[in-house]
Amino acid sequence: MKAIIGKDIQQAKAFLEQGNVVGIPTETVYGLAGNAFDIEAVTKIFEVKNRPTFDPLIVHTNNFERLSSFVQYIPEKAFWLAEKFMPGPLTMLLPKQSSIPDLVTSGLDTVAVRIPNHPLTLDLLNNLSFPLAAPSANPFGYISPTSAQHVAKQLGDKIPYVLDGGDCTVGIESTIVGFENDEVIVYRKGGLAIEEIEKVVGKIKVNAHSSSNPKAPGMLKSHYSPRKDLVIFTGEKFDRNITEIGYLAFQEFNTQIPEENQLILSPSGDYKEAAKHLFAFMRQLDGQENIEKIYVELLPEENLGRAINDRLRRAATKI
Ligand code: AMP
Ligand code: MG
Repeated sequence: MKAIIGKDIQQAKAFLEQGNVVGIPTETVYGLAGNAFDIEAVTKIFEVKNRPTFDPLIVHTNNFERLSSFVQYIPEKAFWLAEKFMPGPLTMLLPKQSSIPDLVTSGLDTVAVRIPNHPLTLDLLNNLSFPLAAPSANPFGYISPTSAQHVAKQLGDKIPYVLDGGDCTVGIESTIVGFENDEVIVYRKGGLAIEEIEKVVGKIKVNAHSSSNPKAPGMLKSHYSPRKDLVIFTGEKFDRNITEIGYLAFQEFNTQIPEENQLILSPSGDYKEAAKHLFAFMRQLDGQENIEKIYVELLPEENLGRAINDRLRRAATKI
């Protein structure tokens, strides 16, 4: 099977209704989607990704009313957040109804729900009678895809169709929050900055050690990794003639390294632009032949810099 890349919602719909899985665009990263109510389709998602079944999936839908129909209740702060950020790069963990199979949630009694902000996928969801379970459309552990071509390249021989919605505008995964005793807790830093959430619900707790958290929201220590060694830059000195080092910079080139081996996330220091470029640039350096090892610069620990650094640190960890 070689995936077709196209913009045909009816074709994507037909595959999904047959119990197949397809690549779908969202504003965060591309998803590998299947009918969330169909255990066989959900099983396919895990198989295609080679994803362990203890890592639960996010359920995507197109409006809040439908979302409400497969969760048991919605805490007040979840309403406030939904009002402001849905559709958007925010995923909420809410107590699930039995219509959501245990396989989707890895046996947890909460389900991760999101309304993606992408016109094609919203249109697709509007045409379907079921929500879509969709993790990122990459082989487990590798860099997440931010274009239809990334998906086709990595999973194209395992899926029939990739719905092409262009390059992702946010570029990193959604921020995942849960609710405990009226408190909002961040389980995964992502495309919605914590500062933005705090403007709506006040100070929130960030679950900083989520890699050891049994809820493990995509927070395995090593994740988002390129094939090549990736190392956090800490002021190393290089020989100016070095050709096998690649460098991912925030705003400016590292003057020790040839410029053709470097990519700059955002010359103006814009976090949103940096997030949008992050995964595509990691892929590009990973694919550049002369480069053997990639150094990356951490960003300031604020705003989306926190979510970007989180991914850089995980990409740098080899286990
Ligand atoms: P991905 O779509 O690949 O970014 O993965 C979605 C992430 O959401 C996974 O890493 C899951 O661990 C996390 N997740 C999904 N459902 C739950 C849940 N019920 N509780 C905690 N984390 C969840
Ligand atoms: Mg993922």
